Amino acid sequence: MYSALQRTKWRLIPTAAIGSIVLAMTLVAACVLLYQRQQAIELAADQIYDVAMPTMSEATRMVRGLERLAHTGQALIWIDDKEQRQVMRQSLDSIAMDGVLQGDPELRAAINEAFATLDSNLAMLRQKGNPARAECLTRWQPVAQKLFDYSERVGYTASMAASDDAERIILATRDSRDRLLHLVLASLAIFAISLSAFFVMIVRPLIRLSRTLTTAQQGFYGASKEETFREFQALADAADALASGQRALIASKFELEQLAHTDVLTGLANRRQFIAKSESELSRHDRYGDGTSLIMFDLDHFKSINDRYGHEGGDAVLKAIGTGLAGLVRRVDLLARIGGEEFAVLLPQQNFDVAILTAERLRAAVETMMVETSAGAAIRFTASFGVAQHVQGESLEALMNRADVALYEAKTMGRNRVVLAAQSADHTPQQLEIAANIKNRKAEI
Ligand code: GH3
Ligand code: MG
Ligand code: MG
Repeated sequence: MYSALQRTKWRLIPTAAIGSIVLAMTLVAACVLLYQRQQAIELAADQIYDVAMPTMSEATRMVRGLERLAHTGQALIWIDDKEQRQVMRQSLDSIAMDGVLQGDPELRAAINEAFATLDSNLAMLRQKGNPARAECLTRWQPVAQKLFDYSERVGYTASMAASDDAERIILATRDSRDRLLHLVLASLAIFAISLSAFFVMIVRPLIRLSRTLTTAQQGFYGASKEETFREFQALADAADALASGQRALIASKFELEQLAHTDVLTGLANRRQFIAKSESELSRHDRYGDGTSLIMFDLDHFKSINDRYGHEGGDAVLKAIGTGLAGLVRRVDLLARIGGEEFAVLLPQQNFDVAILTAERLRAAVETMMVETSAGAAIRFTASFGVAQHVQGESLEALMNRADVALYEAKTMGRNRVVLAAQSADHTPQQLEIAANIKNRKAEI
C-alpha cells in the first residue's frame, strides 16, 4: 500500500507539471495569434481611412465636376439671356481650376477639349444667334459623351477599390474568428487529454487504494471475519504475555545480580564485588596516577560478643556496621564486608591524609554505636583499622596485605585504633611476624 501511494505521488508531479506547461503554452500561442490578427484588422481599417476614403472623396469630386461640366455645357446652348450665359460660363471656371481634374493627362485633354468646344459654341451663338444651336449641340454631344464615359470609369474604379478594402477587412475578421475557434477547440482537447491522464494516473489508483483499504478493514473488523479478529486478539494477548514475561525475567536477572554482589546480612558489597571493582579502580589509578587508598578494619573481640549475646547479637552488630557506616563515606567509596567481621573501604582518588581522617571518623563512629538485644541488653563494640595508600603498579592483593598488616598492628597495639601501613612491602621483621600470624590464623579458621 505504501508503494502504491509512492507511485501515485510520483505520477502526480510530472502529470500536473506537463499538463500545466502545455496549457500555458497553448494560451500564450493563442494570445500571440489573436494579437497578430487584431493588428491585421487594424491595418486594413487604417488603410480605409488613410487611402480609400481620400480616394473615394476625390473620385466623387471628379465625377460631380465632370457631370456638371457636361450638363452645364449643354444647358448653356439653350439659354437666351447673354448675361445669364456669361455667369454660368464663369461658374465652370472652378472646375478648370480643380487640381483633382488636372492629374490625369487624358482627363486634362478631355476637359481642355470640352472648354474649347464650349467657348467656341458660345462665340458661334453670339454671332449667329439661336439658329446656331443645332450645330452647337452636334459639336457638344461627343464632348459631353467623353466626359460621361470618363466619369463612369472613375466611379467604377473607386467603388471597386472600396469593395476590395471592405473585403480585406471581412476576410481578416473571418480569419481571426476561425483561428480563435481553432484555438478554443485545441485548448479544450488538451484540457480533456490532461483530465483523462489525471484520472488514469492519479484518481484511478487512489480509488483502487481506497477500495483495498476498505476491504482490509472489513477483513479485520467485519462481522463475517470474527475468526480473524479472534486470532488477532489472541496474537495480541500472546505478545502482551511475552512482554510481561520478559520484564519479569529482566527484573529477576537484576535481582540475582544484586544478590551475587551483595552481602545479605549487612546490605554492603560482598568480597567478590569488592575485589572486582577494586581491581578495575586500581588499574584506572595505574593509568591516571591519581591517589587511591584502602582502609581495612576488623571488629575487636567479636568472638566474645557472640559468646555473650549469642549469634543473633553478633549479627545485629554486623548489620549496625552496614547501616551506620554507609552514610559516612562518599558515594564513590566502596564499603564492603570482606570476611566474617572484617570490612574494607576503597577510596578512589583520595590521598593518604584524607584516608587516615576517614578511618578515624569510622573508628569513632563504631566506638559510639550501640546495639540493643531482644533481651534489652546494650552491646557496645570497637574495631581496629589499617590504612594503606596504593602505590602505582601494586596489585590489589599486595595493597590489601599492607593494610592487613597495619590492622593487626593496631590489634597488637591495644585495638580500637588506626594504624598506617608502611609505604612499601618491605616490612620490618616485627611486621613480617604479624603477617605470618595472620596467615596462620586464617588458615585455622
Ligand atoms: P580480634 O579482636 O582479635 O579480632 O578478636 P575476634 O574475637 O574478633 O577474632 P576472631 O577471629 O577470633 O573471631 C571472629 C569471630 O567472628 C569468629 C566467628 O564466630 C565470628 N563470626 C564470623 N562471621 C560471623 C557472622 O556472620 N555472624 C556472627 N554472629 N559471628 C560471626
Ligand atoms: Mg577477624
Ligand atoms: Mg575480630
